[in-house]
Amino acid sequence: MTVRTRVAPSPTGDPHVGTAYVALINLCFARKHGGQFILRVEDTDRTRSTQQSEGAILESLRWLGMSWDEGPDIGGPHGPYRQSERGESYQEHVAQLLAQGNAFKCFCTAERLEEMRVAQRAAHQPPHYDGHCLTLTAQEVTEKEIAGIPSVVRLKVPSEGACVFDDVLRGRIEIEWKTVDMQVLLKSDGFPTYHLANVVDDHMMEITHVIRGEEWISSAPKHLLLYRYFGWNPPQLCHLPLLRNPDKSKLSKRKNPTSILYYREQGYPAEALLHFLGSLIDARNDDQALIGHGHSTRERTRLLLEYFSAHCELERISVGGPVFDIPKLRWLSGQWIRRQAPSEFLQSLDEWGYAWPRAISPQQREHVARIAMERIEVLSDFGPLVEFLAEAPDVSRHDMALEKLSEAQVHAGLQGAIEALVPLDGASWNQAAIGEALKKSAASMGFTLKDVVRAFYIAVTGKPTSLPLFDGMEILGKEESLRRFEIALERLH
Ligand code: GLU
Repeated sequence: MTVRTRVAPSPTGDPHVGTAYVALINLCFARKHGGQFILRVEDTDRTRSTQQSEGAILESLRWLGMSWDEGPDIGGPHGPYRQSERGESYQEHVAQLLAQGNAFKCFCTAERLEEMRVAQRAAHQPPHYDGHCLTLTAQEVTEKEIAGIPSVVRLKVPSEGACVFDDVLRGRIEIEWKTVDMQVLLKSDGFPTYHLANVVDDHMMEITHVIRGEEWISSAPKHLLLYRYFGWNPPQLCHLPLLRNPDKSKLSKRKNPTSILYYREQGYPAEALLHFLGSLIDARNDDQALIGHGHSTRERTRLLLEYFSAHCELERISVGGPVFDIPKLRWLSGQWIRRQAPSEFLQSLDEWGYAWPRAISPQQREHVARIAMERIEVLSDFGPLVEFLAEAPDVSRHDMALEKLSEAQVHAGLQGAIEALVPLDGASWNQAAIGEALKKSAASMGFTLKDVVRAFYIAVTGKPTSLPLFDGMEILGKEESLRRFEIALERLH
């Protein structure tokens, strides 16, 4: 048997990190077993599905380094891979179910269904179809059809017993049939619902393992019933734990950004996000050992995927619910950024769309990159960190207040710094010479550079921490650095 897995996103919004997580497991599991991984677009919800969303989902997964063996963009032997293009197949299968008596037409109006729901709510019953049209005779059905009354097709569900199935992660699961709704399979617009399309396609596409989020467990009985009615062997089911917020609630936009686009826009390298998703699947990966292989993003993501595939074992996934821990993701991001050579980092910035301020000349950029990449976690930290190189900060007297030194001492410190810097000639204006001069001048006043450096930082960069100060001053140049010390001094008057 060739293992065939799939990810089946619905293109109804921004590409979700949960989709990437599910895609990654499916991809790695297929690779581990020498199988195939399929991407199928489940766009049966015609009002909510958009091409733009589909494009963004595919593009995001590609950005993360993932690829698929069959999909809407590359085709394959089981296409089309977009459900909106597979309508005929669903119609045929529904006709088969109707002919076998495993499904029935339902003519209930929206008003009737609403009344039914209200009554069920009042009686504290879970919402479910009450079987009103289940007993219509063939003649009644024909009459209603001739009268042009719109209908849907619903699944017939056993009234007794339970659906028992094995989940790869969770073992035996038992769900009583009486809790399973008579699911709509075909809507009145002729489009299938998720349940029908999903089962028909998984079978037609020869999917052997359905690995998906745990929110689909309660749908499994409907799906297994369909397999039984069609006389097909069901695939193995594996319901993954949902990603969680740190408070263990379901990952939601309200508490954490969930769109892959967000992380890309913030400047998380693709390899960092991929690495992070891989660590959610298997927390036993050695993060340090994983960081730093490969000379380009493409090579790095490929090596990570290779590693995750080789180590992919569904049984090792903890059902506890992996926490989407942003501090860890930021940490990984910083680690991956620091593994780049400065020239590569410059290229990442460029690809990410960073626009250099004109004041930082192309010759200075590598120096700026080299020192800045040590101090950022995501690419969007870069701009704020280096902006002082382009624009003098607006400092206040208050900003320069220090814990250990009086205002008079700060004043003397700045004055002393200026006096120590002025004699440096242009050629020796480099970070080592600047550092030396500032240290000496502080010592001559009876305090250490450490005591006063915060005020220097404020004067030059506007912030208490920033790029290494001496490097910053080297890049700014002598004239501009001195000007900033002088402005700071004036503000103290
Ligand atoms: N279209 C479903 C989703 O968006 C797929 C669920 C499944 O994998 O069966 O999650």
